[in-house]
Amino acid sequence: MTATVTKTDTDFFGHPKALVICFLTEMWERFSYYGMRALLIFYLTQHFLFSDQVAAGIFGSYISLVYITPVLGGIIADRYLGASKAVVLGALLLVAGHLGMALEGTQAVERLGTNGTEVIRDPFYLQVFYFSLGLIIVGVGFLKGNISTLVGSLYDREDPRRDGAYTLFYMGINLGSFLGAIICGFLLQYKGFSWGFGAAGIGMLAGLLVFLKGRHLFGDAGLPKEPEALKRKTVSGLSREWAIYAASLFAVVVCWQLMQSPEIVGGLLGISLLLAVGAVVFYSLTQCEPIDRDRMLVCLFLMSYQVIFWSLFEQTASSLSLMTDRNVDRVLFGFEIPAAAFQSINAFFIITLAPLFNFLWIALARRGWEPSTPAKFALSLIQLGLGFLLLVYGASLATDPTQVAVIWIVLLYLLHTTGELCISPVGLSMTSRLSVPGVVGMMMGCWFLASAAGNYVSGTIAAMTGSDTVGGEIVDPAAALQTYMDVYQTAGLYSIAAGLLALVIVPIIKHYMHDA
Ligand code: GLU
Repeated sequence: MTATVTKTDTDFFGHPKALVICFLTEMWERFSYYGMRALLIFYLTQHFLFSDQVAAGIFGSYISLVYITPVLGGIIADRYLGASKAVVLGALLLVAGHLGMALEGTQAVERLGTNGTEVIRDPFYLQVFYFSLGLIIVGVGFLKGNISTLVGSLYDREDPRRDGAYTLFYMGINLGSFLGAIICGFLLQYKGFSWGFGAAGIGMLAGLLVFLKGRHLFGDAGLPKEPEALKRKTVSGLSREWAIYAASLFAVVVCWQLMQSPEIVGGLLGISLLLAVGAVVFYSLTQCEPIDRDRMLVCLFLMSYQVIFWSLFEQTASSLSLMTDRNVDRVLFGFEIPAAAFQSINAFFIITLAPLFNFLWIALARRGWEPSTPAKFALSLIQLGLGFLLLVYGASLATDPTQVAVIWIVLLYLLHTTGELCISPVGLSMTSRLSVPGVVGMMMGCWFLASAAGNYVSGTIAAMTGSDTVGGEIVDPAAALQTYMDVYQTAGLYSIAAGLLALVIVPIIKHYMHDA
């Protein structure tokens, strides 16, 4: 017998106890995701000795595929598996993927060949690496969107605790991200890649165990819609449930191959976007009442802001990380902070600022001044742009043309974080609120698909900042810094312009939200 979620249960800071399970599972999942990701660009450029441009392409494809798969994960959970089984499947794939990353092999070597310098990489370990990324991509697809949907399923549609629940959940995400980047970053510096990636795998194992222990708390919310249909035999002879598991392994193989052809990922992303937008528009126009239709379409439109936001924000783990490694003075009190650990600054600010933002929104709401969702989205783009412009300003003050003072990168992350707090948790809550209940999983997938598009573009932008390297080391640090700043200045100005335009159209969008 499974328990039924009582939507008035208030065991955890006034929220249902099951929220703790979402919080912890996602915390460990993000620990592994961000811990591994903090090392990835360095693994590509310093272990496999890929050029900056090639590394940015692989990196961009990975972080976009990781957010494309949640659409499928959401649809499969909505229609067949239910969120709970989907999360378990995702977690299993993730444990395997992260532990696979820990199989490092020997470092690539650069030597002079007949056609100039060539890089020799161990083909077996290179394939292990790509395959592990495939496992992670499909794993995130099953886990990320569905655990986010489970949070919303604990509340009635009009329950005022929903935004607060997502803020708490977002704290879990960032606690995991903070610890992941710090722990894996330090393990990389002092023990090597295997240790850093291995720690990510162990973290994910902890997440899987937490979810298995607490999954009963979700009651009906996490169960398959038609459990009988799952047992039905398919043409393959397997039950539908096992056919889904087999198809997931096939998807891993597809992603393994895709990681080796980053150029195809862009096309795939474009097709996925077209299909997803088409499906949502079709569903809204044919299946929804007028008010729900407007809300679904507004939700879809607002998701497009994410593309701009993440394309610039996600420089963090690629170009900003390499820049921090090469052009930021990282010695504090005689101690050199690993460049990878800088990726935890954003999470640290989220954890410290999220309660403040929560308080701010409530205080403003009491006076009727709380910015609407589209206004918050617009503000996020403006803050993102200002962050880049601050860094560019800081670099212009430096007396050493190869180095920027650490404070400027910290200030950039501060503004990027306040921007993130205006879009990311707000958007999760918006998606679960504006979507029609039967398709929340799919809509959540679309939310992450928009992140995927942003992440993909982020790889292209990161590639523009690339400079010449030899053996993983930069050739001309001053020229490299100048290239970074030129790209960041343009990015900053575009982002501010987009934010201002978004502010202008707020009243129109609000009208179609029908007070939701
Ligand atoms: N920091 C957020 C997370 O990891 C970003 C999500 C997104 O890209 O949409 O959940």
